[in-house]
Amino acid sequence: MTVKEILEIAYKKLKNAEIETYILDAQIILSYVLKVPKWKLIIEADKKLTSKQQKEFFKLLTLREKRIPIAYILKQKEFFGYNFYVEEGILIPRPETEILVEIVLNKIKDLNNPIGIDIGTGSGAICLSLLKEKTSLLMICTDISQKAVKITLKNAKLLNVEDRVKIIRTDILKGIKATVDFIVSNPPYISREEYETLQPEVKKEPKEALIAEKGGIFFYEEIINQGRDLLRDKGFFAFEVGYNQAQKVANLLTNIGFKTEIYKDLAGINRVVIGEK
Ligand code: SAM
Ligand code: GLN
Repeated sequence: MTVKEILEIAYKKLKNAEIETYILDAQIILSYVLKVPKWKLIIEADKKLTSKQQKEFFKLLTLREKRIPIAYILKQKEFFGYNFYVEEGILIPRPETEILVEIVLNKIKDLNNPIGIDIGTGSGAICLSLLKEKTSLLMICTDISQKAVKITLKNAKLLNVEDRVKIIRTDILKGIKATVDFIVSNPPYISREEYETLQPEVKKEPKEALIAEKGGIFFYEEIINQGRDLLRDKGFFAFEVGYNQAQKVANLLTNIGFKTEIYKDLAGINRVVIGEK
């Protein structure tokens, strides 16, 4: 079978599984199996696959037909230009979260040897990208999930920053005593009602990484209450928020006398809330 032939079959199969991005997904999987960049598939349309490659391709394609996210199938996801190892049980980092990283980097650019905390670190996407970009930074990151702690450590080693991060399994900030320059978090923020409306792919991700009580606002309240005394003077909170939560979260911060800023993502949605002490 040639590249062109196998792709035609794959498009049909993924289309039948009601996957909107069937062309892209089939090409991503094939380029992974053949270990060539996606654009090369077009100029190598007549190239024949070995039987081993065909077998591997159809194995992965079947997973995609079952609506398993591509990142879980390939066990990797690019975030902020870095490659993160991911697997089932870990939230797949989202492109909109890159904005949160950019904003934090901008706010700490003039600080010498800053220290930060990332709550609910997941794959380590936020925390480890910050460490890669700011070489004098030290980070503490927490997650309640044992798997997240394990994978973040793995990614810290892959990205060569493990000597500047402490990864702790705990509930939000329990047991952490430190004075820090900032606390960043992309916590679970989806309400139970909204969860039901999500795509099948998102439902393959851990519920504990997505759902938050109090209509999605629970973690912001807790992080602000538990974290405000850990922030030094002029220290700040940096939160990713859901599409309708920015004002609510900003109010929680102004209520305790913090100065707030709201930033939009590329889709024009209020996505990041900063609160400065
Ligand atoms: N920071 C990662 C990112 O942006 O890709 C993952 C964010 S995910 C939306 C939320 C994370 O919070 C999950 O990894 C989940 O395990 C973690 N989490 C849930 N409840 C928690 C708790 N009580 N304390 C600490 N982490 C928690
Ligand atoms: N942005 C994610 C989604 O829409 C939610 C991440 C979160 O709850 N922090 O699936």
